[in-house]
Amino acid sequence: MLVRIGEVGGYMQNTLDAVVIGGGQAGLASGYYLQKAGLNFMILEAGNQPTGSWPQYYDSLKLFSPARYSSLPGYPFPKAPNEYPLRDEVITYLRQYAEKFKLPVKVNQKVEHIEVGNGGFDVITIAGDRFRTKTLISASGSFHRPHLPSLPGADSFQGRILHSSDYKHPESFLGKRVVVVGRGNSSVQIAVELANHSNVSLAVQQPVRFTPQRILGLDLHFWLKITGIDAFPFYRIGKEPPSPISVFDLGGYRKKIDNGNPDQRTMFSAFSPEGVVWANGEREPVDIVIFATGYRPHLPFLSGTGALASDSRPLHVAGVSTEVPGLYYVGLSNQRSFASATVRGVGPDAKYVVQNIKRFLKR
Ligand SMILES: Cc1cc2nc3c(=O)[nH]c(=O)nc-3n(C[C@H](O)[C@H](O)[C@H](O)COP(=O)(O)OP(=O)(O)OC[C@H]3O[C@@H](n4cnc5c(N)ncnc54)[C@H](O)[C@@H]3O)c2cc1C
Repeated sequence: MLVRIGEVGGYMQNTLDAVVIGGGQAGLASGYYLQKAGLNFMILEAGNQPTGSWPQYYDSLKLFSPARYSSLPGYPFPKAPNEYPLRDEVITYLRQYAEKFKLPVKVNQKVEHIEVGNGGFDVITIAGDRFRTKTLISASGSFHRPHLPSLPGADSFQGRILHSSDYKHPESFLGKRVVVVGRGNSSVQIAVELANHSNVSLAVQQPVRFTPQRILGLDLHFWLKITGIDAFPFYRIGKEPPSPISVFDLGGYRKKIDNGNPDQRTMFSAFSPEGVVWANGEREPVDIVIFATGYRPHLPFLSGTGALASDSRPLHVAGVSTEVPGLYYVGLSNQRSFASATVRGVGPDAKYVVQNIKRFLKR
């Protein structure tokens, strides 16, 4: 049983085996394996439900993997195997997952900071609670700190500059001149959706490359799985998995871009007060620029523990901290494989981390 420090006047006898920070898919998959291992643990979630960041993603988001390849461990995604789950279905699935396994998620518990010492961790939340644990899994998500590149003239631009994480639906963009920056899945999905309502260009450093969703009649994820590419442990050969530079062509995107709606243009070089200055020197008025330019690591609760590099990256191998014994990660991009930060890929990483925790606790 979990007891608050202060209420019992000494907490060592109530020390948990593990605390998981974050109740999204990474935290829940970790919880599944911690429970199977018979460990005494708690999942602390900042929000009011165990659904991760999915409610914040844009309304029309559809998973790029079909239901057959979109499950967390122990509970198949409840949808026809070849259909692609929608955002709200993922939200429902995560909620059901936490309930099905009765995972001990404590909501409205945003972790503020961690104290390392005496062979474990004190986890302090904004609500003022303090949890003592022997090991810690950071599963707080890789997509919380939007990255906006700095470009000349941005300060004087009179339109709106957004990050793709601000985009929810096309209504507020009706009839606007919009430039979407980036050549990944998010930029292409957003640009194509907006192009039905607005005048949209996709601004790219290099042309968008597409991966067909189906090869020889089978979904791409079938091939990723049977070839072993999806789960290949790049860390074992001392390399990072290659970042995906091609876009899953889920919605006839290639055809729409080839037809010029949205059109694809070489990245603009600067902002002007009214719009953008394209690479060929042409100045064009623009209302809104959306940067789909990724995210940077954001683990503020670990600052001061020595776990992070100077640029805030967690220092780890395959999710095991190289700096702080007993500290682990689940859900980092490219943590162990190409699929680490996906619904389908997070389970194997969680399993691996919990195996390490079991060994650590037996020392
Ligand atoms: C736009 C977009 C589209 C994507 N599409 C797909 C897709 O189609 N298929 C796919 O498999 N993957 C997709 N992903 C990648 C990935 O599956 C999701 O980002 C997923 O939400 C990651 O889950 P997570 O549990 O690692 O992190 P999150 O979902 O971010 O969950 C982390 C949780 O930790 C909590 N938290 C954070 N800080 C604290 C704290 N200090 N204390 C307590 N709790 C905290 C947060 O509230 C959150 O609930 C997409 C990502 C993005 C951004």
